[in-house]
Amino acid sequence: MHLACDLAGRDARAVQLVAVSKTRSTDEVRALAETGQTAFGENYLQEALGKMEALADLPLQWHFIGPLQSNKTREIAARFDWVHGIDRLKIAQRLSDQRPDDLPPLSVCVQVNVSGEDSKSGCNLEDLPALATAVHDLPRLKLRGLMAIPAPVADGADPAAPFITLRDAFNALYANGLPLDTLSMGMSDDFETAIAHGATLVRIGTALFGPRTPKTSP
Ligand SMILES: *Cc1c(COP(=O)(O)O)cnc(C)c1O
Repeated sequence: MHLACDLAGRDARAVQLVAVSKTRSTDEVRALAETGQTAFGENYLQEALGKMEALADLPLQWHFIGPLQSNKTREIAARFDWVHGIDRLKIAQRLSDQRPDDLPPLSVCVQVNVSGEDSKSGCNLEDLPALATAVHDLPRLKLRGLMAIPAPVADGADPAAPFITLRDAFNALYANGLPLDTLSMGMSDDFETAIAHGATLVRIGTALFGPRTPKTSP
């Protein structure tokens, strides 16, 4: 990450690392936390809740990065610090309604579909301005920025293109007055490219912990 920042002429402190700990044991998370890592990303609610309980002695920041289901929003709103996958207003409204009053507003990113038809999840670019404005207006959420999980690029296509699309969308919203500070893009295989194109937060699992064994039931 520091090298990628250097190459891009960016300050290394401008990019935050979220360690993606899905499928990883509590001991693995604890070992990484002992090196000073505080932000962890999880995709599955039940798995995350178990780790949070076992690691409650540590001052960790938890990011929910998985797909959002309506029946999970209450616990997500109560237990997480960030949610990255907001793709529709109904889910955002539930999270805002259910965010406990004794906690600060929940930091959220709107997930954008930057890969066209190849990707099912995320808000379309045409719908983004309206969704981002509506999420920004919810009282118990703090809209921090945009997130994307680009589909694999076709042979010969520019691997930077989805990141440039997301950054341009971010800049357009910012220019329209939304006070965004987070561009959540880049994973183990592409974080250098994402950093070169403005990522402020990368979500990395495999490159930190090694390969995951596929999960059978979510
Ligand atoms: C699993 C996951 C990651 C991490 O992927 P790696 O390739 O292991 O770095 C990042 N973001 C999201 C949304 C994920 O689901």
